[in-house]
Amino acid sequence: MKVYEIVEATRGILVSGNKDDEINFFSQDSRQMTNGGMYIPLKGERFDGHNFIESAFQTGAQAIISEKDVNYEDKIVIKVKDTHQALKDMASYLRNHRPVKVVGVTGSVGKTSTRDMVYSVVKQKYKTLKTEGNYNNEIGLPLTILRYHDEEVLVLEMGMNHLQEMSRLSMIARPDIACITNVGTAHIGELGSRENILKAKLEIINGMKEGSTLIINQDNDMLQTVELHHLNVVRVGKGKEASIQASHIVLEETKSSFEVEYQGKKEIIEVPVQGEHNISNALIAIAVGIELNISLEDIKKGIQEFKLTKNRMDILEKNHKTVIDGTYNASVDSMKSSIDVLANYKKRKVAILADMLELGDYSQQLHEEVGSYVASKGIDILVCVGKEAKYIYQKARESMKDVYYFESNQEVIARLDELLKEDDVILVKGSHSMNLKEVVEKI
Ligand code: ATP
Ligand code: MG
Repeated sequence: MKVYEIVEATRGILVSGNKDDEINFFSQDSRQMTNGGMYIPLKGERFDGHNFIESAFQTGAQAIISEKDVNYEDKIVIKVKDTHQALKDMASYLRNHRPVKVVGVTGSVGKTSTRDMVYSVVKQKYKTLKTEGNYNNEIGLPLTILRYHDEEVLVLEMGMNHLQEMSRLSMIARPDIACITNVGTAHIGELGSRENILKAKLEIINGMKEGSTLIINQDNDMLQTVELHHLNVVRVGKGKEASIQASHIVLEETKSSFEVEYQGKKEIIEVPVQGEHNISNALIAIAVGIELNISLEDIKKGIQEFKLTKNRMDILEKNHKTVIDGTYNASVDSMKSSIDVLANYKKRKVAILADMLELGDYSQQLHEEVGSYVASKGIDILVCVGKEAKYIYQKARESMKDVYYFESNQEVIARLDELLKEDDVILVKGSHSMNLKEVVEKI
């Protein structure tokens, strides 16, 4: 972005520097300014980025925006009212002033997986930029847009915890194509009901032009109800109502395949990651590919080449055992899809499950739901750890025999030798802060 564009976008004041200079790198992390570029000091609860302006210049920054009056005559300094707002305004300006198509991906679960699959498909034909890591909120999304150079398509992950947040993200990103993977129960503690979760996800359309495309997973009970006449709604799924439909599904332990038919052409799609949920994600990627005029052959190739972002669900071989590492995070939906993956193995199956957090008043009910689910899926041994996971344990115990409860990870670790044996497949899953990583390390 040219400096004068930044000034215009932020309605800021150019305190020093040349308005025709170009800024090619933006960061809110003062330690990451080795590429030069602009440092964006943000204010958090415990810190104020303005305190690190000096060190940003030391690590290489050439420019800053700032709410405070600062004096660096040999640098580019733009004074703004609010640096976070300025960050969003810059992203919005860039999005609106460059010839780029935006694909936005949201949903209770599966955003990152789907985003990566969409990227893998789109880059077969177009120069494409995607969100890295989990940069999906009101800081991460604008920072991602500001990484734009000359790409033809941006694939953006969009996440939220509160009503209106998605709407604000959509106003910045203005997706040409929006995808909703599913509506589950993540953040139900905050949002109150599944109807509200649906409402919150649908805010993704608020920044979209009439006639733009919304891709939804038709197998999801909530998304099925969506009717919108001013958008091109594309439904994907296993059922007949889906316009892009998966049939002949074959699920294997580490991959799967299905057939898709579009405009009289049939193609077998191979998905190099396990779980039926990844078929839903792949269908969304196919729909995006079709919208962007990518051939079915290239779409197929893109999905075949897809690589899961690390830490989503790693399969590890440890001490002659297979560990499905789901310790990165957990919601009811990802718990269930992971249990499905475990159930698909032919060996002895063990689930070590900990609390799912942020479920508020629904916590007991949803943990119980997971308990019934485990019990219905032919899992051999269930180990529950944590206060909320006690509800998983209590429910599962009603119909399952080998069920154990522990209060802490340390207690689980102490019993691992007894509980596990060679050749077992072990799913380890819980919310990030339950720190189940330490259990995985000891297997
Ligand atoms: P976050 O809120 O952390 O950004 P996310 O929405 O990006 O999560 P992913 O990281 O893609 O979700 O997936 C998290 C886990 O959910 C995966 O490890 C996988 O087990 C499961 N998962 C992925 N896609 C789906 C899906 N479509 N339906 C249900 N579960 C899924
Ligand atoms: Mg994510």
